[in-house]
Amino acid sequence: MTTIMPETLTCPVCGTVFEAWCVGSCSTCGKDTDFRPHYLGMDPLSVFVQACPRCHFAGYPGDFESVPAEVKRFVLSGGLRAEEVVGQEPPDELRGSTKYILAARCLAADPDTEDLEVADLYLRASWCARMERFPERERECQAEAVARFEQALETGRVESEQRAVILYLVGELYRRLGMFDVARQFFDEALHASPDEHEPGLMALIQRQDEAARARRSENMQM
Ligand SMILES: [Zn+2]
Repeated sequence: MTTIMPETLTCPVCGTVFEAWCVGSCSTCGKDTDFRPHYLGMDPLSVFVQACPRCHFAGYPGDFESVPAEVKRFVLSGGLRAEEVVGQEPPDELRGSTKYILAARCLAADPDTEDLEVADLYLRASWCARMERFPERERECQAEAVARFEQALETGRVESEQRAVILYLVGELYRRLGMFDVARQFFDEALHASPDEHEPGLMALIQRQDEAARARRSENMQM
């Protein structure tokens, strides 16, 4: 079950002290085909990340302990372009997707950040947007995640044991974006990157989603 508790955070960019709900514990039971976990009890996804109500610096609670100089400069100089994400949302009650997008932008401003870490935040933003019934934002975040996962694959920043999972995930995001041919190319690559005997669960999932992409593509061709 999920437990949340209030925590006092200090923004490492502007020094604002604020109270935020943080996740104490949670447990999961199953997941969607893009790995979005199903939680038991209250869904804590939107509570894992926090955003400063003043300057909109965002991240996990640990990110509030210190901030690289580049990120601080990025936020203070307006590079975050927070207003286009936040819109009319009250600063102390931001949507989960909003906080994850802000966190992804902050993290991307750190030159030491890996593409995979930024991709993961955009993926989580897309999960929240789905829960928030905000399909346009879900697609935007899926596209941002895909771009960064692909960048990580191309630059050899994905460990070999992780490669099949990431290739599958990129395929699944393309399938969800309606790009069925590209999705199938990634599923095919994922199948060949993962020897059958290693992860039978993943292999079955790839084959199932590839079949779903194939079926949808045929439907489209007939329309
Ligand atoms: Zn701040």
